[in-house]
Amino acid sequence: MFETNKVVHKGTDYKATQNACKLCSPLGASVAYKGFEGCVPLIHGSQGCATYIRRYLISHYKEPIDIASSNFTQDSTIFGGDRNFKLAAQNIINQYKPKIIGISTTCLSETIGDDVTLFLHELKSEDFDGKTEFVVASTPSYQGTHIDGFHEAVASVVRKFAKKAAPGNHINLFPGFISTEDIRLLKEIGVDFGLETAILPDYSESLDNPVWDTYKRIPEGGTTMEEVEKSGSAKASIEFGTVLNLGKLSGRVKNLNVTKTGAQYLEKQMDVPLVRLPMPIGITQTDSFFEELEKLSGKKTPEKYTKQRGRLIDAYVDAHKYVFGKKAVVYGEEDFVVGMCAFLDEIGIEIALAASGGESGLLEQEILKYCPENGDKITVREGYDFESIKEWCQSNNPDILIGHSKGYYIARELGLPIIRVGFPIHDRIGGQRIKHLGYAGTQELFDKIVNALIEYKQDSSPVGYKYM
Ligand code: SF4
Repeated sequence: MFETNKVVHKGTDYKATQNACKLCSPLGASVAYKGFEGCVPLIHGSQGCATYIRRYLISHYKEPIDIASSNFTQDSTIFGGDRNFKLAAQNIINQYKPKIIGISTTCLSETIGDDVTLFLHELKSEDFDGKTEFVVASTPSYQGTHIDGFHEAVASVVRKFAKKAAPGNHINLFPGFISTEDIRLLKEIGVDFGLETAILPDYSESLDNPVWDTYKRIPEGGTTMEEVEKSGSAKASIEFGTVLNLGKLSGRVKNLNVTKTGAQYLEKQMDVPLVRLPMPIGITQTDSFFEELEKLSGKKTPEKYTKQRGRLIDAYVDAHKYVFGKKAVVYGEEDFVVGMCAFLDEIGIEIALAASGGESGLLEQEILKYCPENGDKITVREGYDFESIKEWCQSNNPDILIGHSKGYYIARELGLPIIRVGFPIHDRIGGQRIKHLGYAGTQELFDKIVNALIEYKQDSSPVGYKYM
């Protein structure tokens, strides 16, 4: 069922990816690190890695985003990056005075076999101030996507700081790589249920600040160290995503007993019960999330949300004639694609193609699980790139594309509407403020999709109807 890519070079069986439908692993780790209070991300590798990641994040979040680099040179590539690493760490400590330095490795440093844990040991025994904490995530990009990097970083922070204690009444929410607006939405939901909820990680402030009078080297916000410590005594963890970093390429350890996500670690090592749910997009998946919140809080869903749900159902009915039977192409990170497919299936849109650059080996089975009626009719492609998506669209005439900005050129070339969701959004303002989750996020997505289809029909009509 799966196909990989694309350009076969004459005389070899080498197939090159053209315009990958995934991002680099340390990028995801850097976003996750930004969600812990006082943390500065450090990329152990060449300057180009950090520059590319900064450029991508700044363009999406429209914020100044500092990411340090150990700036490999030719020397460090040959003789090892220990000197550069220690210098980088000292510079960060001197200039930023961070609580944590969140380290991600890169393709280069992993390929030459740099042992960052050993470097840290040496640094501490030489001239280290002892006040800064270090966390290391192994994130070679040839072994996963930005999502693998994201979950590796979160798991590294939890492994390092969580403390086992008698269970309290608070809960942990591991939402995955979602928008800053979605994080704010989840925090509000937690408050409305009366639940003390730690979001791991919470970059809703640090990557989406109010305007500043003066520049702040480390933006405010983020999950506090106390919250991470208390994650080990939570009543439960809710984790969004079923692919996560559990796929065949992710992580370096193939031993299934080794925990890969933060929530999984807390379950195995600290007896914190884990509830794993797909991203709550659409009514069915949001209902599952709210049912868990009802169980954990002992409270009924507040009326505010039952009304949101009711309005959403009403909108589904009103707009069914516009969406039913339309063919969509959905692309992006795997858990996002699974959640989006579940939602589109629910509203009667035919998912013609579900594609991701991820190669977990899990995408098809998860789509089948959450689209039980029509999942077997969906063409699922892992390890796909945008050129392959374009070729597929040229042969199969979909009605709409749903995914991030990197697919815009396909929509433009083929004259199709595109709904921009997920990450990155580089050609619009407000990518960080797109809501995707819960009844409220689904409502916004639904309205956008319906209106894009109406607009397309209206613009393509020789009459230009005023009533559609
Ligand atoms: S893919 Fe590898 S080399 Fe490229 S930016 Fe990411 S870590 Fe650096």
